[in-house]
Amino acid sequence: MRDYRQVYIDGAWVDPQGGDAMEVISPVTERPIGQITLATAADVDRAVEAARRAFRSFSRTTRQERIDLLGSVLASFAKRHQDLADALVEELGAPATFAKDLQVGVGFLHLQTGIEVLKTYAFEHAQGGRTTVRREAIGVIGMITPWNWPINQIMCKIVPALATGNTMVHKPSEVTPFTAHIIAEILHEAGVPQGVYNLVNGTGSTVGAAISGHPGIDMVSFTGSTRAGIDVAKRAADHVTRVHQELGGKSPNIVLDDADLRKAVTESVYRLMMNSGQTCHAPTRLLVPAAKLQQATEFAVQAVQSVKVGDPNEDVYMGPVVSERQWTRIQELIRQGIAEGATLAVGGEGRPKGLETGYYVRPTIFTNVRNDMTIAREEIFGPVLCILSYRDVEDAISIANDTIYGLAAYVQSATDAHAEEVAARLQAGTVYINGAGEDPEAPFGGYKMSGNGREWGEIAFGEFLETKAVIRREAA
Ligand code: NAD
Repeated sequence: MRDYRQVYIDGAWVDPQGGDAMEVISPVTERPIGQITLATAADVDRAVEAARRAFRSFSRTTRQERIDLLGSVLASFAKRHQDLADALVEELGAPATFAKDLQVGVGFLHLQTGIEVLKTYAFEHAQGGRTTVRREAIGVIGMITPWNWPINQIMCKIVPALATGNTMVHKPSEVTPFTAHIIAEILHEAGVPQGVYNLVNGTGSTVGAAISGHPGIDMVSFTGSTRAGIDVAKRAADHVTRVHQELGGKSPNIVLDDADLRKAVTESVYRLMMNSGQTCHAPTRLLVPAAKLQQATEFAVQAVQSVKVGDPNEDVYMGPVVSERQWTRIQELIRQGIAEGATLAVGGEGRPKGLETGYYVRPTIFTNVRNDMTIAREEIFGPVLCILSYRDVEDAISIANDTIYGLAAYVQSATDAHAEEVAARLQAGTVYINGAGEDPEAPFGGYKMSGNGREWGEIAFGEFLETKAVIRREAA
């Protein structure tokens, strides 16, 4: 049992000023594995005060001081690699190897990329003959993060914030608080100055709301559902606080007629099932030519047979989903898919055989899905793939873009050039061509209701900076 009831404010672990204890539940055993305190608005006030004080000096640190600090964070992060991976297995139910290599691995990538960008980032440039344009730290950043890739989402905010001289008040997801606690310990050990990073656990409706509407917070960087992102923006509007939103997705994966169908479908199944389908930019809508729908479905069903589900401490591809709430919602959507007339090709309601305890979901494929069905429109956030058919490329592009979201898209073709032609017409923040993996230097973020911010790499720095023009007089 982990006792994480304290919050980290002004460089120290302290008791929250109020609030109830909450049990953290294992998705594997459905039993308590730790405790946090759901802190209150009073703790947010204290954290904001500390962050404002720290900003005075931290915003004036030199580039080299911040490069050294990030280097020290990287060293501490490396020391805690296994602890972070173990915490992810416990709180998220992530399979051990996947947790260690990918979920924690991405944290290293953000740190390494951030250090490289900081070495040469242009914080000022001359414009015309009289003006210097300076990019300056914004101030106190309120950070609210979700549970699905917790280390990624925390590190891709902390790294650019530290690199640009901002200070932080962070509320991680109450569902996965262990990794956030360890990250705070890492920052402490690395010598992040007092007050620069503050951690306050709590629910969205109390601590999340207090951060969003706080007059002492200069920007809120939010990652989570579109519903909560809208709520954050409304509260922030009262103080004209900047809001940086990274929200939901329902990403299309277009398999063009000339693509290797088996390869494209198989990769698509694996990519979706990774992390039990709990990835915001997962390829959840697979679009195939109408004449190939049956074959694509067969390939998908075959691929699912080798998706091993089970205890994340064992050699499996998929563990449980994170919580009972998530499990129940996925079941409801599976029922709705059947009720609305989609064909269930494999999987379906209930737990996989032999896994009666734990929030395990059967890897599920729906085919003959129409784009107006609920399962094609709403985020399921579970291991459920929808296969849709299209008539021609124009039809595929129109179905792909017919969504409120625009986080990512995927295109498969015999040639990159053909795929890129289609990519140019998709309304999505990232388009992955022919099975391409992540690029930590590429911007990450969404079009439409998937958000308005960009994270990762150099572009993230700009999001954490204000712009100041210093204008000199005309020469006499
Ligand atoms: P969520 O919106 O329920 O919660 C996210 C965070 O916001 C949590 O810390 C939560 O406590 C807090 N929160 C909830 N309601 C709030 C409110 N009204 N005001 C302030 N804070 C509030 O999302 P989740 O279930 O934790 O995560 C899954 C969602 O996150 C999915 O929609 C997924 O697509 C999205 N997501 C997006 C990205 C991205 O980069 N675009 C990345 C990961 C996850």
